[in-house]
Amino acid sequence: MGFLRKPRKPLQPGLPVASEESSRDGAPGVSVAVLRELQALQGIGDQILDALVPRARLLQLAAGQHLLRRGEPNLRVYILLSGLLRVELDDSPLAYIEQGETVGELSLLAGSSATATVAAEKPAQLLVLDEETFWWLAESSHEFSVGLLVRLAKRLRSNNDAVQESIVLRRQFEQAALSDALTGFRNRRWLDQTLPRIIQRHLHASEPLCIAMMDIDHFKQINDGYGHAAGDAVLLQVGQLVRANLRPADSAARIGGEEFVLILPQTLLPGAISAVERLREAVASASFNYDGRLLPQVTVSLGLVALERGANPQKLLAQADDALYTAKQSGRNRTEWPGR
Ligand code: GH3
Ligand code: MG
Ligand code: MG
Repeated sequence: MGFLRKPRKPLQPGLPVASEESSRDGAPGVSVAVLRELQALQGIGDQILDALVPRARLLQLAAGQHLLRRGEPNLRVYILLSGLLRVELDDSPLAYIEQGETVGELSLLAGSSATATVAAEKPAQLLVLDEETFWWLAESSHEFSVGLLVRLAKRLRSNNDAVQESIVLRRQFEQAALSDALTGFRNRRWLDQTLPRIIQRHLHASEPLCIAMMDIDHFKQINDGYGHAAGDAVLLQVGQLVRANLRPADSAARIGGEEFVLILPQTLLPGAISAVERLREAVASASFNYDGRLLPQVTVSLGLVALERGANPQKLLAQADDALYTAKQSGRNRTEWPGR
């Protein structure tokens, strides 16, 4: 006697399925010898298999024909005798079900509708166990019940693996969508998403915050004189200097070609001036190389602004941009801020 018993609930009638073959003596071609070969029926005694033969039905599916549709009721378990089934998601194949594998037990056991859409990839022949036969088999054969639990556990495990994989992938996509491929810095999208929250938090806590807009001076000359790849190398090296000269709590985003936004949390204007001036001097005194060649001196200009009551991201960035414009107009390689 098996240990899985059909739960007490009214028997639901089986659903009509196309082109089933059966007779009082069972489906033609179904014999104990055929059943014994099936993975899903391994270890079940011949006596039970004998009794199963007249209860089993055969189902033929032509290529492309559907067996189950996600969301529709299912009260049968299918064992694939030959051919190939595909599990579909939005009309594209998600997985394949091979000979000997089973379909339908999840929805039958959970008393719910089919969890996936399944169709024949190649012409398929299936053994059909209706709900009553399934429970009879579970109650009659300990081996069938154990095999069923093992199959379900494996499926659960591989589903868990797939879920974890997709979480990792999603994080990677999110990360990629918010960062700049060349420098690894955050990008404009990240800034648009995050700056409002940073500003809100600082206003709420009445904490000081400074924002700087930084732009490489005469960058076009590097591209024009030494090539775009040399320009990229300069961008990377400037990025490294930004990282090395900011505090861990600070953040930086590359928002355009050679334009960066620096965010200095919990920082008053005098502290921010000395931080960005230190960075500006580090860039001005660094030597830049590309492909074994020494490049001309590189400098940056910065526009700095401190957070004030009633500020918003657009206003703050526009003020920083104005200050940057003043720095460019005043000869470059310098930092400007409103009211200097
Ligand atoms: P200014 O001192 O006024 O800022 O002059 P500039 O030459 O730096 O400014 P401009 O905006 O005229 O030039 C910016 C250049 O940056 C133009 C564009 O070709 C280059 N650029 C934008 N993105 C990239 C990139 O990813 N790699 C490289 N190598 N160059 C880039
Ligand atoms: Mg520039
Ligand atoms: Mg620029």
